Formats: sequence, structure tokens, C-alpha cells
Amino acid sequence: MSDLQAFRDEVREFVRAQLPARVREKVRLGVELDKSEHLEWLGRLRDRGWLVPNWPQRWGGPGWTPAQRAVFQEELVLGHAPEGAGITFEMVGPILIHHGSPAQQQHFLPKILALEHWWCQGYSEPNAGSDLASLATRAVRDGDHYVVDGSKIWTSGAQYADWIFCLVRTDREARPQQGISVLLIDMKSPGVTLRPIIGIHGWRYFNQVFFDGVRVPVDHRVGDENHGWSVAKSLLEHERLNLSRVGENRRRLARLRAIGREVREAGEPLERRAWFQRRYRELEVRLEALSATVLRYRRIVESGQGLGPETGMLKLVGSRLIQDMENLTVDAIGPDSVAYDARAHRELPSPAAGGADPFAEAPRHEFAATASARRFVTRGYTIAGGSSEVQHNVLAKQVLGL
Ligand SMILES: Cc1cc2nc3c(=O)[nH]c(=O)nc-3n(C[C@H](O)[C@H](O)[C@H](O)COP(=O)(O)OP(=O)(O)OC[C@H]3O[C@@H](n4cnc5c(N)ncnc54)[C@H](O)[C@@H]3O)c2cc1C
Repeated sequence: MSDLQAFRDEVREFVRAQLPARVREKVRLGVELDKSEHLEWLGRLRDRGWLVPNWPQRWGGPGWTPAQRAVFQEELVLGHAPEGAGITFEMVGPILIHHGSPAQQQHFLPKILALEHWWCQGYSEPNAGSDLASLATRAVRDGDHYVVDGSKIWTSGAQYADWIFCLVRTDREARPQQGISVLLIDMKSPGVTLRPIIGIHGWRYFNQVFFDGVRVPVDHRVGDENHGWSVAKSLLEHERLNLSRVGENRRRLARLRAIGREVREAGEPLERRAWFQRRYRELEVRLEALSATVLRYRRIVESGQGLGPETGMLKLVGSRLIQDMENLTVDAIGPDSVAYDARAHRELPSPAAGGADPFAEAPRHEFAATASARRFVTRGYTIAGGSSEVQHNVLAKQVLGL
């Protein structure tokens, strides 16, 4: 048996034995997890030393090869383990490892590994999304603190976060990209408030975060003052590979395979219907091509070379692919997928709390209850992390030289 196969068996057995059954079932059906369920699973990964596969060994990474990391990811998906908390482990961790001061590294990285700090990302503002450099949340020096005023929006998971890493304007006279700094802000600081934003899927996915005279120690600035733009940009490399969403796409394809076996049309399972076969195979081929390309780029990073702007295509292709997977899921389940899962809507009174459940009638297929919501969730994937239109612009200018 090859070493890689032995490693695969080890991971598979770990997931089988350690993933709580309730979490596995929710992930399989596409039901949203709450923070405690994430933490339960992440705690098991931490105890095994597998919490941060992409971090250097010095900071707690397991020292795996790119192939091992790919196998690990694949086995997690196949075993219905949840996707990790990307902002905490794939954004804040690398920012601190590459740009943090020794004091910041020694304080914050162990807190992340101990699962004590959960982070959210404060980049976008009501008037600064694609044009991020026009952000206006300002931080004014007052002795050894900054005083922060302004607002961030579309902040995913802020309701669960202990800390937020923010882009703030520290020089209003400089050119837009040159007057920005990165601050680490404790969400419990006086003057931080949240407003929930309920998405079209009915979930509280986003928030608007307000800063009203929030005092932040200067020690919590990452990198030099007014050089936050280069810190933020250096993250893009990591982000683009992750935003290709290969694992999430594999999970969807497996779901579609099950639907193809179980849902019937004109007396036969969908997997034998030509229209379903054609669309399923096309998605499968697109996923394999994406997966091979991501692996190729991971090897380039591993060999110490930088990545060029062409990796923007991975995000473009992966986010479009996942939307097409969800579209086929809804088309395959048909009218049943219009059923709305009230339990996914946290703001509604639950039947257990005495309210009637208006959606009590069980849909016919087990994936039906979440199909519409999941389709709406992935609608945002071609907007988040750089919209498709903007990605096209970057590829046209920087790669094709148009
Ligand atoms: C699921 C999801 C999660 C998110 N999570 C976070 C988070 O945790 N933290 C955070 O800070 N932000 C988050 N965001 C916000 C995200 O970064 C912004 O939505 C994104 O940058 C687009 O900005 P905008 O919404 O202001 O749209 P705009 O920038 O106003 O764009 C509106 C439309 O115009 C198009 N457009 C804009 N500029 C151009 C151009 N130059 N050429 C052609 N077309 C253009 C865009 O493609 C889009 O279709 C999240 C968004 C989503 C959908």
C-alpha cells in the first residue's frame, strides 16, 4: 500500500470515528450548522493536530505535502465533515504569520488554535465593495490608541465572532490605497454594535457592524501604518485557491448522484434520463478540470514561487460551477424544492417555543427542504471575494493584456 493510501485510510477512519453523527447528517442534508457544532468538530481536529493543515509546522501545521492536504480535504468532504472556518484559519492565521509582530503572533495564533478566538472580516462598507479602496471607516490616533468610527457591511458570521480584522482609513489626505491600515478589533469593545441582515435564503448570514468611538490599541495594528493595502492584497493568493471551492463542489456532486438514484421521472430514476445525465456529466468534467488546475497551482506555491493574476479564474470557475450544481439540484427535485425550511430561519419563533410550524408537511425528498435556500446561498458566491464582472476585468487586463 502506498504511503498516500495509508494516509487516506487514516483520515477516513478518523472522520468515521470522530465526526458527531448529528453534524454529519446536517452537513449531508445541507442544513446550516451553529457555532457550537462547528466547534465540537474543530475541537476533535485540534486534538488530533489537524486543525490548520495550511499553516507552517512552526505554528501548529501538520507539515503535510500538497498531495496529503488534497487527500485530507477530499476525505473530509466524502465523510460529510463541515467546511472549516475559513476566515479564522485561512485569512487571519496567514495574515498574522506573514505580517504580524512577534507579540501578535504569540498572543493571537495560540488563541486561534485553542478555538478561543473566532474571527470575522471587516472589509466591505456601504459605499466600498468592488471599489474597496474608497473605504471610509476612519481610525484617528489618540496616544497609544486609535479611535475608530464608521461601519462595515455584509460581515459574514459577525454574530459569532470574538474579533474582527478591519481595513480602516488612517490617512485621509493620501491616495486612496496608500492611507489604509489593518486593525484587529475586539468585538466586545465599547462602541461596537451589530445589525443583523437576513438574506434571501432566510438565514442570518450577514451583519452590518458599527464602530462608534471604538478605542483600539496601536499594538493591534498589523504591519505599518498606511500600508494595510499590501497586507490585504497578499491574502488574495491564499484566498483565490480556497475560493475555487473544490471540496464544496465535490460534496454537491455526491448529493446529485444520490438524487439521480432516488428521484424518479416517467417511471425511471433520473440517472437514466438523458437530460439529467448530460448535465451531471458536464458538471463532473468541469469539476475534474478545476481540481487538477488547483492542484497544479498548489504545487507552484509549495515550490516557493508566487502566483500570478491568472489564478483569478479559479474563483470565477469554482463559484459558477457550484451555482450550476445547485441549479441542477433544484431542477431535479422539481416543485418539492420550493418547500421552505423554517428551521433554517433563526429569527422565526420555533414550533418548540409554542409557535405553529407553517411548513410542517415533510417534503418528499430528503434534500428538498434545503434545496432552495442552498441555491440562494451560492448565488452570493459570484459576488463575494471579488464579483465575477470584476474578475473578468482583471483577467482581461492583467492576463490577456486587452
Ligand atoms: C456571500 C457573501 C459573503 C460576504 N462576506 C463578507 C465578509 O465577511 N466581509 C466583507 O468585508 N465583505 C463580505 N462580502 C461583501 C463582498 O465583498 C462585496 O459584496 C463585494 O466586494 C461586491 O461589493 P458590493 O456588494 O458593494 O457591490 P458593488 O461593488 O456595488 O457592485 C455592484 C455590481 O456592479 C458590478 N461592478 C462593480 N464594479 C465594476 C466594474 N469596475 N466593472 C464591471 N462591473 C462592476 C459588480 O460586479 C456587481 O454586479 C460578502 C458578500 C457575499 C455575497
